[in-house]
Amino acid sequence: MVRAILCMGACVAAGVVLAGAMKADGISEKARKLHFSSIVVDTHDDTTQRFLDGKFDLGTRSALGSIDIPRMREGNLSAIFFSIWIPSKVTGPEAVDKALVQIDAVREQVRKHPNDLVLATTAAEIREARKQGKIAALIGVEGGHMINSDLGVLRSYAALGVRYMTLTHSGNDEWADSSTDKPAHNGLTEFGKDVVREMNRLGVMVDISHVSDKTFYDALEISKAPLIASHSSCRALCDHPRDMSDDMIKALAAKGGVIQINYEKSFIDQAYKDASDKATGGVVEMMATIKKACGDDEECVGLEMKKIETRLIAEGKLPHVTWERIIDHIDHAVKLVGADHVGLGSDFDGANMPEGMEDASKLPKITEALLRKGYSESDIRKILGENTLRILEQAEKVSAEMQSQR
Ligand SMILES: [Zn+2]
Repeated sequence: MVRAILCMGACVAAGVVLAGAMKADGISEKARKLHFSSIVVDTHDDTTQRFLDGKFDLGTRSALGSIDIPRMREGNLSAIFFSIWIPSKVTGPEAVDKALVQIDAVREQVRKHPNDLVLATTAAEIREARKQGKIAALIGVEGGHMINSDLGVLRSYAALGVRYMTLTHSGNDEWADSSTDKPAHNGLTEFGKDVVREMNRLGVMVDISHVSDKTFYDALEISKAPLIASHSSCRALCDHPRDMSDDMIKALAAKGGVIQINYEKSFIDQAYKDASDKATGGVVEMMATIKKACGDDEECVGLEMKKIETRLIAEGKLPHVTWERIIDHIDHAVKLVGADHVGLGSDFDGANMPEGMEDASKLPKITEALLRKGYSESDIRKILGENTLRILEQAEKVSAEMQSQR
């Protein structure tokens, strides 16, 4: 009885303290301070596709999608890599033309929002943007097919500000195998190895998300700079070819690289992935219908896919996936290789987000969850962005060394 009364008193006191430290959104003051004083970097966002209709304005809060300036501000997203993406089947000069249109679209969004955005190409420029209270906009090319097997095109992209290139997208390109295509080159071809060397010389980070396991190991061997996996998760928790096996994550980390965890539901949750695979026959048919209605309008395709997903969930065919699965993947990778080799690569505006992580405004929840797991503040800052800044600095250093040798 006495113990019960004591407990009651203690519990009420603890409840008061907890209520005082927690905001209505569930983010504690400590987490909020840590999150908003950190540089938060997201290495993969497909928002560029939304720029292409000429109507979308990054400065206006949108009811759709995950990224705009107001929501980036709310979630303290300090630096964002806008992805330049076209399907793997689009090749040749058309691929180059389309990539250039998208690079211009990113640069134009920066030009239209000078008080909020600044184009950054180095880690120092990201830190400087932060000091000025601006969001750093960076550019990553998602798929080596966009260089049209021409190192000159790669050099032009670098000159326009591209700071990483994913060696393939979902199909093989002319010189590298993808994780979601039948192997054609046994990894990287000799030209593919030249591409990696030229990326090193230019200071363009080598991104191994989407590539086959063999391409990853080839790139790891050739690259003088550490690699990034700009938007991949852990295969040990969800057996998807887009994710990295524990052996791959260990090899990546041993050479200083970083895996930036992807939030896509089918990459982070095994039950969702299995159910999704089961429903694929139907989805493939529906995709054909969507393509008929939407054509090349990627935003339309995304919205239609979302509608289908919502319906499949309502019909009980797909399980719910909540945002905490992202934390499981971060924690798995940290336990495997340490906090120096893990970052964030959401895939916002290009993937199915788990419940609770619908947009950039939700990012402080990651900091809160890691604090509650007992992570140190310094480790959390690394995961939020400092690891990616380190890799970018290393790419710059390797570039400077290689250029001084010629
Ligand atoms: Zn991708």
